[in-house]
Amino acid sequence: MAGKITFSIIKPDAYQAGHVGAIIKMIEEAGFRIVAAKLTRLTPERAGQFYAVHKERPFYRDLCNYMSSGPILAMILEKENAVADFRKLIGATDPAKAEPGTIRKLFAKSIEANAIHGSDSDENAVIESAFFFSALEQF
Ligand code: UDP
Ligand code: MG
Repeated sequence: MAGKITFSIIKPDAYQAGHVGAIIKMIEEAGFRIVAAKLTRLTPERAGQFYAVHKERPFYRDLCNYMSSGPILAMILEKENAVADFRKLIGATDPAKAEPGTIRKLFAKSIEANAIHGSDSDENAVIESAFFFSALEQF
């Protein structure tokens, strides 16, 4: 059975551009409930840990610098079928390929600065949530 939570980050480009409110409005209108939220900032090292799965990829170093370039909003979101429904709401990694009406189509600046993160599996939703929130903070 699909899990009830996913993990999201409003990334530095979207925060800097003042899109937090508009993005949260879309998330809530799509039926997600925010169960934890934290405005924070990553160091390049911590961004590297979060994206460790990509460490052999050519874009990894730039990605770590970009993800640590400014404030981010980390959130745990709750909904039935949360992971798949949220990936659909945010759209493809490359905004040029994202469906009309998706968050990335509307707000992403580039394939790197693509406004928002969403977990790709129930397992990663739990791992990524724990990366930013202690159990006590999740309610
Ligand atoms: N990314 C990038 N260049 C690429 C692919 C990805 O800069 O060619 C960045 C982008 O910010 C993306 C993140 O690396 O969101 C993680 O990549 P992934 O393939 O996991 O995409 P996502 O799951 O975020 O859609
Ligand atoms: Mg991914």
